[in-house]
Amino acid sequence: MIHLLKELIKIESDSREGANAALVFCAGWLEARDIEFQVLENNGYKMLVATKGHGNETIIWNGHIDVVPGHSEQFVPMIEKDKLYGRGAADMKAGVAAMMQAFVEIDETRLERIVQLHIVTDEEIGGRNTSKWLVEQGYHGDFVICGEPTGLKVGLQSKGILHFDITFKGKPAHGSRPWEGINAIESAMKYHMALSELPFRKETSEYFGQPSVNLAMIQAGDRYNVVPELCTVKYDIRFMPGQSAEEITDQLTGLIKTLELDGEYEASDTPTPALTTPEDNPYIVSLQDAIRKVTADDPILFGQHGAADTRYYAAVNGGQGAIEFGPAGDDWHGNAEFGKISSIEQFKDILLQQALNE
Ligand SMILES: [Zn+2]
Repeated sequence: MIHLLKELIKIESDSREGANAALVFCAGWLEARDIEFQVLENNGYKMLVATKGHGNETIIWNGHIDVVPGHSEQFVPMIEKDKLYGRGAADMKAGVAAMMQAFVEIDETRLERIVQLHIVTDEEIGGRNTSKWLVEQGYHGDFVICGEPTGLKVGLQSKGILHFDITFKGKPAHGSRPWEGINAIESAMKYHMALSELPFRKETSEYFGQPSVNLAMIQAGDRYNVVPELCTVKYDIRFMPGQSAEEITDQLTGLIKTLELDGEYEASDTPTPALTTPEDNPYIVSLQDAIRKVTADDPILFGQHGAADTRYYAAVNGGQGAIEFGPAGDDWHGNAEFGKISSIEQFKDILLQQALNE
């Protein structure tokens, strides 16, 4: 399995062509082990689906083989004690290699459910061409593990995403007589300062200390001697399970009125719902049993701040049943990315343990 991971790291899968080449390599590796699979393609992005077992419940193992760009030396794997360095050694060729190895090792005669392997090629650019498309084609299940590097902690919930844009309107005037105008940039500043006092900012949930608000973009002003008439601010808001995007939108729009500002708002995309899998979900329970058996440690549950391909699978399950769970590593997207070899081995054993549930 570690040999497989090293071979995967050598493939520069930071582009569509590279990720497709890595996928073809995975297909060849599975074929050599007599695994049946399908390679599908959407918008030029390839993906692989393989199925074992039968029954009326399905567990999906999802792994992305694409990586973010790296320095050329990061595509040469290097082992130092328990650490395997290389681009994707954590995020997430380690998860993919472990899932492939576990899939090959499953004894189908002992399997009382369906296990489906999904290898995809565009997670790092949003997952819309592969994981999202697979779900739309009906490839979804009762429980989905996206093998992102979580250090064998169970990322059972994640925040939702709300993009919210406002254009404040002022009144232009000569820059030497600003009192005759209304400065739209100053309106935006007032709004931004007051936003932190809104009720939704002060809520907490079981796995999250607070929602997050990132003022991501500002467009305003084009010369010194004019009081700016327009100022557009764009917010990236990550809300917690239990919070409602509609309610937050109401608070955000209400604040424009409360401050008596002239502003037009626009929610720029459909909000991405939060993932809300509860800890008594039967697959979370069986996964924790498997972690205990393999590692002899108590499992740790946590909430993930960012979004992954989990969101597409959870969308057809009421926001539940898709989690991030994978081996330990560090510095993914950084220059010293590595995966912990012992953890990758344990991850593979945990996948097998849960799938066979013995
Ligand atoms: Zn990833």
